[in-house]
Amino acid sequence: MSAAMPPAMDPAAAGEMAREAAAWCSLHGLVVGDRADQRSATVPGVGLVHAPFSLLPAHFPESFWRQACELAPVFNELVDRVSMDGNFLQNALSKTRQVDDFTSRLLEIHRKMMEINKEENIRLGLHRSDYMLDSETSSLLQIELNTISASFPGLGSLVSDLHRSLIKQYGTSLSLEHKRVPANAASTQFSEALAQAWSEFNIDSAVIMMIVQPEERNMYDQYWLSKHLQDSHGITTIRKTLSQVEAEGQVLPDGTLLVGGQKVAVVYFRAGYAPNDYPSEAEWSARLMMEQSSAVKCPSISYHLVGTKKIQQELAKPNVLERFLKSEEIDKVRKCFAGLWSLDDEYIIKTAVEKPELFVLKPQREGGGNNIYGLDLRETLVRLQKEGGDALAAYILMQRIFPKASPAYLVRGGVCHEGLAISELGIYGAYLRNKDKVVINEQCGYLMRTKVSSSDEGGVAAGFAVLDSLYLT
Ligand code: ADP
Ligand code: MG
Ligand code: MG
Repeated sequence: MSAAMPPAMDPAAAGEMAREAAAWCSLHGLVVGDRADQRSATVPGVGLVHAPFSLLPAHFPESFWRQACELAPVFNELVDRVSMDGNFLQNALSKTRQVDDFTSRLLEIHRKMMEINKEENIRLGLHRSDYMLDSETSSLLQIELNTISASFPGLGSLVSDLHRSLIKQYGTSLSLEHKRVPANAASTQFSEALAQAWSEFNIDSAVIMMIVQPEERNMYDQYWLSKHLQDSHGITTIRKTLSQVEAEGQVLPDGTLLVGGQKVAVVYFRAGYAPNDYPSEAEWSARLMMEQSSAVKCPSISYHLVGTKKIQQELAKPNVLERFLKSEEIDKVRKCFAGLWSLDDEYIIKTAVEKPELFVLKPQREGGGNNIYGLDLRETLVRLQKEGGDALAAYILMQRIFPKASPAYLVRGGVCHEGLAISELGIYGAYLRNKDKVVINEQCGYLMRTKVSSSDEGGVAAGFAVLDSLYLT
């Protein structure tokens, strides 16, 4: 049995434990809106179901865990430095913008800010860097870096609590120790960073505005942050959709952002990362208005762009990290980069067409369910190449990572399924800078997501994965 293998458990015992665990979720707010209830995405407190979870934490070697944690402050710095280089962002994305309207709209806002020399004194990043352990090379490889709407800081912390509690109850029969599940304070640490940004902004009457989708089943993850902001910091959070911001918002001549008559200190985006979030010009004009204001944006347009897959691929090219990081940091970061290619490379296209199972084709999208694998990947490449033009510039190609599969019990909608599963580790990072003063640069807890190994994609909200925590080995 390998180190990554959780202890065997018979299905009856697992079923009993799953019922206890689902009850724990309901009692502790580890919940999401239930698809079966139409109102669950718009009316809080209606149609709740436990968040999908893994019954026991995924086993994970401590050395890789430490490596991932150490990378968090370095990636925080990297995002900040790259964001300062507006020309780098514009140039790196110049071909993508020709063929991807969404990226083009983001770049347009960014260009406008460059033109007016927009200063962002207070810079807040709440990121999540995602990794998988590649079994072929036995290395920790980055999947992507999320700089906008990194989800599950609220619920992720609770999954660690759930697992510790289950291990306390059942651990002796399973030979597990609850102390091997690392503490996970993502929820309070993200709130703390938002509160600090609010405090640097320094207007007591101002609020934090969370930008949300009109329909959001993951609202309780977001409400956890608002709760901490209120309880621990006395700060009010208002929730607005992009279209509400357009209707109710204005920027005063001194840069103050007013929404519904309230001054906004920090705009925290939990929407705005996908084309669907901008069904009309109203949403784009809201995004531009907020960017033009003096409110702290989490993320600013430049932080958002740094998190695109195209920039990930550009940073992996030789001699690019050198522009932004010190040499000891470069080594750490490069070590976790998987193979990444732009599609102007004939040789790599040919290789991917021959062996599509070794690659992932990624468009400039977020939120899961957008990548192309296997035979679809081959077909897409062949078709786009035939069509000619710049269509290929909408995508990047990535080395496929193969994590080792282990048996797991995944619980969704009160039903416990056993299966071979693989996990993806996300490490949260918070960064706050006011002019030259770095106020926060830290790792803030983690999120493990586990999915059956036969599924290519990984999003929890998208329905592929379940929430998990980790068990250090
Ligand atoms: P998104 O921004 O939509 O989350 P990701 O790059 O994280 O995009 O890809 C979505 C999912 O696809 C990941 O959670 C992971 O499960 C899978 N995936 C992405 N890149 C790779 C890769 N290189 N190898 C294996 N699986 C991958
Ligand atoms: Mg993403
Ligand atoms: Mg992802």
